[in-house]
Amino acid sequence: MKHKRLPLGIYQANCYIVWDEQSRKAVVIDPGGDFEELKTFIENNGLNVEYIILTHGHGDHIGAAAEAKEYYNAKIMIHADDYEMLKKSDKNYSSQMGYKRIEIEADKKLAHGDIIKVGNVSLEIIHTPGHTKGSICIKCENKIFSGDTLFAGSIGRTDLEGGSFNNIITSINEKLLIFPDNTEVYPGHGPSTTIGTEKKYNPFLRG
Ligand SMILES: [Zn+2]
Ligand SMILES: [Zn+2]
Repeated sequence: MKHKRLPLGIYQANCYIVWDEQSRKAVVIDPGGDFEELKTFIENNGLNVEYIILTHGHGDHIGAAAEAKEYYNAKIMIHADDYEMLKKSDKNYSSQMGYKRIEIEADKKLAHGDIIKVGNVSLEIIHTPGHTKGSICIKCENKIFSGDTLFAGSIGRTDLEGGSFNNIITSINEKLLIFPDNTEVYPGHGPSTTIGTEKKYNPFLRG
């Protein structure tokens, strides 16, 4: 399995491309905008995009999802609890973020424990409500793509619709910090980290 981080869109949310080196089949996680940049990377690496997985429904993570879906004939997937958010620009906040209004119909509703396969690579869906009701993290080998749930030294905001501070803390403690300390974490914004580093130094999680 290989992966690449591309900060995209006006908020520079991290888009991750994950692929199977043998079959060149790929998944795009959170294409937040700048489709041409994404397309160039995909072309230069000879990848075949099969799925677009959204860690949650916010505008800064979904800006290029519709274009990517159409261009690659790929399926858009989002947790069932954020499904409605994708369809309404006032719920996904795109109408307030300086984007054109984004209103997308997803092809598949995800649930906790779902496994998405691309070639020999398996991605496991972990439901981590708190930032939004349908926020997910995606685990692949020793890597977790954490969306806006867990950041290096911080956690996602919980003051938007569907947010809950108690839920995000419970999600992180019970569903992320259970993995080994050397598990790599790739957040939706900013640099990567590890589970061990966050356990030790994240001010929201210590004690
Ligand atoms: Zn968000
Ligand atoms: Zn975000």
